This record gives sequence, C-alpha cells and structure tokens, in this order.
Amino acid sequence: MNPREVLKKYFGYDSFREGQKLLIDSILSGRDVLGIMPTGAGKSICYQVPALLLSGITLVVSPLISLMKDQVYALNQAGIHAAYINSSLTENQIWKALKLARQGQYKIIYVAPERLETEGFLNFARQVKISMVTVDEAHCISQWGQDFRPSYLKIVQFIRQLPNRPIVSAFTATATTLVKEDILCVLGLLNPQVLVTGFDRKNLFFAVEKPKSKDRYLMDYVKKHSGESGIIYCATRKNVEKVYELLKKESVPAAKYHAGLSNEERKENQEDFIYDRTPVMVSTNAFGMGIDKSNVRYVIHYNMPQSMENYYQEAGRAGRDGEPSWCVLLYSPQDVVISRFLIENKEQNPEYGPGELEAIREQDERRLGTMHYYCLTAGCLREYILRYFGEGKTGACSHCSNCEKEFEELDVSREASCVVDCIRECRQRYGINVIAGILSGSNTAKLREYQVQRLVSYGVLKELTEARVKEIIQCMMMEEILTATRDKYALLRLTEKAQAVYKGELPVILRVPKVSQQDQKGTKQKSKNRRSDVLNSKGLDLFDELRKVRFALAKEEGVPPYIIFSDKTLVDMCVKLPFSREEMLGVTGVGEHKYEKYGLRFQEAVRAYTGGRKEKYYFGDGESL
Ligand code: ADP
Repeated sequence: MNPREVLKKYFGYDSFREGQKLLIDSILSGRDVLGIMPTGAGKSICYQVPALLLSGITLVVSPLISLMKDQVYALNQAGIHAAYINSSLTENQIWKALKLARQGQYKIIYVAPERLETEGFLNFARQVKISMVTVDEAHCISQWGQDFRPSYLKIVQFIRQLPNRPIVSAFTATATTLVKEDILCVLGLLNPQVLVTGFDRKNLFFAVEKPKSKDRYLMDYVKKHSGESGIIYCATRKNVEKVYELLKKESVPAAKYHAGLSNEERKENQEDFIYDRTPVMVSTNAFGMGIDKSNVRYVIHYNMPQSMENYYQEAGRAGRDGEPSWCVLLYSPQDVVISRFLIENKEQNPEYGPGELEAIREQDERRLGTMHYYCLTAGCLREYILRYFGEGKTGACSHCSNCEKEFEELDVSREASCVVDCIRECRQRYGINVIAGILSGSNTAKLREYQVQRLVSYGVLKELTEARVKEIIQCMMMEEILTATRDKYALLRLTEKAQAVYKGELPVILRVPKVSQQDQKGTKQKSKNRRSDVLNSKGLDLFDELRKVRFALAKEEGVPPYIIFSDKTLVDMCVKLPFSREEMLGVTGVGEHKYEKYGLRFQEAVRAYTGGRKEKYYFGDGESL
C-alpha cells in the first residue's frame, strides 16, 4: 500500500492536506522531521500513516493521558492496533500491553515521557524494532514555552540507548522561533525536514465584542446555538462559577471545570462535555490541553486571556473538524486589570533567579500588551493574529468581526496633541483613566482628590465622551506614540513620536465602527449561519437524525461521538445521501473499517429518512445564503 491508499482505507480521506504528504514522504525515506502546524491541521496523520508503512513499531511520546486515550480510541475505531502505556494503567496491565507489543500486536504505542526512563520500558524498547519515535506536543521540550515538561529532556537519552537510532519526528502547534530552535537543538534532529504550514484556520470566524452586558450577550449567543458544542473560557474560578450559575438559571445544560473542583468532578464534567451529554463547558484555561473533541462549534472568551499564544490555542479548540466555527472574545477594560493581577500572582519556578524572573515578567507584560491591542484594533483580526505569529502581511480576511464592520476614519490629530500636552502637564504621572478623565473634564472624587481641575488641560476635550478620549489614547498606544509603564499603575509615557504629534506633523487617525448596534446584529446573524450555509432545512433535520444514530453508537461503544464520525462526515452524508457501500465509502471520513462497523446503521438511517429518494438536502451554489 502507498500512503494515499492507507489514508483512504483507514481514515476514509481522499487526499492529503497541505504539508502532510511532504512530511510523510520524508519519514518514509528515513529522514527526521519537524512539523509545525496549527491545531486541527492534521498532524496525527503525518505520523500515523507512515507508522503503518514502517516495518517496526512507532512510539509516540505524548504529555497527556487524555490525549493518548483519545488517539488510541480513534485508531482502534479505524481498525489500527494501537495501545497506550501510562500511569492510568496498573503494573499488570502495562506488563500485558508490553507482552502483546513484543508479539507484534501494535504498530503504534503512545507513552508518557516519564515512562521512557523506566528500566522495564527500556528493556522492552531494546528488544523490539522501534522504527520511529514521534514527539507529540514537542514544544514541551522548550524552557521558553509555557508548557515546559522536564521529562521531555529524557527523550534524547532514551533514543541514544536504543540499539538502532529510529527516525525521529516531532510535531507542535507552537510557532515561535525560540521554541522551534529549542526543539531542533534539544531533540538532536538529524538533517530534519522542517515544515511550518500557514497558521491560518480558515474555518474559524474571529470576533471581538464589547457588549454592555457580557452576561446578556453570552446568554443570547448560547441560546441561539443551543445543541451545539461550545466552550466558554473565563479568567478566574469565580467567573466560571458565576457564568455556570447564570446558564443553569436559564436552563442551559452546561458543565464546569476549574482547578478548585475535585478530580472526580472534573473528570465527570469533562466526559459529559466530550461525550456530547452536555453541550456547553464553562472553564478556566485549565481545561482543554489534550482535548481532541473535533465538533466544538464555538469558543467564547468571557475574559481576555493573558497572551495571544493562549488565545489562539484556546480559541483554536473550535472547529478541529474543519467545519465553520466561531471564536468570540468579550472584551472589557477590566479584563486587563484581572490579567495583570494573575500575571503578578503567577506561581514561578523556584529555581529562577531575580534576573530570570524579571525577564519573564517583562515578557508577560509584552504579551499582555499585544493581547490587549488585539481587542482594541480596528484592523483585520486574522491579519493581526497571523502577523503576530510571524506570517507577514496577509491582507484583510473579510471573515472576522472587524472586516465585517464598516469603519469610518476620523482625523483626531488635534485631540491627540491635546493628549500629549496633558500627559506632559501631568509630568507623566497618571494612567489612561485619569488622563481621559482630565481631558473630558470629568468630576469624580478621585480627580478632585488629585486636584486636576487646576490644570490647563482640564476639560479641553469636554465635547468628547470619556470613552472616546480613551479610544484616542489607545489608538496612540497602538501607534507607539504613547507607552504605559509595565507595572500595575500603567502610567502613560510619551515616546519620541509624541513631539511630532504635538507639533501637528504626524497625523493620528482613529477608526470607529460606522454601523449601529442594530445593524451589526443583522450582519452577524447573516454570517453566523453555519451548517445551514450548506444544508437546507430537510438536510438539517437529517443531520439531527444522523447525530442521534451517532450518539447511540457512541454509547454502545463507550467512546465519544466524534470518534465514531466527525460532524463534517455527517454533513457530507446529508449532501451525498449514500445508499450503497460504494457511496458510503465516498463520504469523507468513512474508511473501510469504520464502514464495516457503522456504515450500515447510517446507510439505513439515510434511506429511512429519505424514503430512498435522492432529493436535494443542500443548497446549490446560487441558493446558498
Ligand atoms: P492536529 O493534531 O494538527 O490538531 P488532528 O490530527 O487532530 O489535528 O486532525 C484534525 C482533524 O482533521 C481530524 O478530525 C482529522 O481526522 C482530520 N484530518 C486530518 N487529515 C485529513 C485529511 N487529509 N483529509 C481530511 N481530514 C483530515
């Protein structure tokens, strides 16, 4: 069999995605590889397909038990013999698994990095033929990353102790140069084929919303998408509890997850979500690492996260199956305060000295700043993200909330010069709230206490609202005319550009949304029709029928529904209406093994629903919304 045939037979896909073929061919020619691809790009296929074609065993080092379980379930469902070895098994189970592995039962074995150090495992690995060692989530090897795992450093020693050096393949979704260099160097990859694919996730719609009431917005959103799977991320446990209660009060079935819950509770709630028993998960960022659930249709951030890295990783849990999905960030200025508090109180590695701690703090502040500007920018959100991850100028995407809004450009050069003057007059001692308060002539107790009414700048922009003055200041920060000190006071400071603004030599343009709130809602609804972009109402009903079949099968098998078939596969069934084996095998994601196991059940459901008639259950080109 060649790689393409393996892809079709076991995974049911017709063609490789961007980059997969190159990495697979490189591995099969005996070369090490490093694949840096975003979540959902299909990294697993890059090592699973060659693993089936190599003569020996492929060991996959993976940091999380849940991730391993998921992958092994999915492989078993596809008819591939795989196993995992980690601390969730008893010694006896491990012994049995290794015995079967020695007898050649498994082509792919997932192991936790800690396991590599044990005598028993090393003995096993020396006795069998290990063709490839795959390092999943390879960024865990880098001390620069946020997920550093010291046990990952042991992988190299392990490989050295094998009688023959296997091919080493490494995969991650973390793209920064430092992390990449670390992986290449620490893992000791030999002349590797390195592939960095585009970081764009085309099926994701990015939005930043600044609603008056986040709670109201959230409730509306979740209700409008009832039945769909979604994650709501909150910055703190307290917020998780609050949002969870809110949903409960409105009878929205939801689960919660944070470090304050017991292990059992967390496990149960996570499974309720993964097995589609509870559609909505409210959680802190503790939830998600190692969650492979492919049919998450939306990720809402109730609070702004602390960095773009976090945001893209968390938001990226939407739409792994490639179906249209939504990533909405609900921003309020208070979020910056929460984030700064969390950064300041973050647990640090006790081995770090003052110099290192300071460097980390500065890096955290810089990251927070970039995240904050994401919420404020009036430019294309996708472009902002991709530029941050080093993809250069990509141009506006027309598929994010900013690209969908209409903006008007206001020349605020005069107002900006007033801001510079005010900051100077205050001798750079205040942050954005006080400066905006002074300029707009606000009369709060705090300002009275500071005795700012005496200043020349007091009230010079009183024709503007305080919010608008803040927007101008934020715009000046993004243009690097102003910076803020990296402490909790965030005092505004002038940069060298400020003088030019003051003299009127550097114009300042503020982009503000043109459309009214009402209009925005209209556009949103139009663009947020998801499956219904493809399926007509009959198609959507059929989809629900098939979902029921999937749920029943998942229950029988004791696996999450998306492991049986992805949403994408079900949608494709609604489009193709497969009545025969051949037709069913033509549906994306239906491999031979899965056909034998489940194909008939779905085929029957399609036939029963359609009465055996091939009508149109989807919109034709011209008819789509
Ligand atoms: P990653 O590990 O990069 O986050 P996965 O390996 O989990 O991504 O793949 C994401 C989804 O894409 C899975 O549902 C997978 O089956 C699917 N997929 C991978 N490769 C292909 C392909 N060539 N054609 C269609 N679907 C694919």
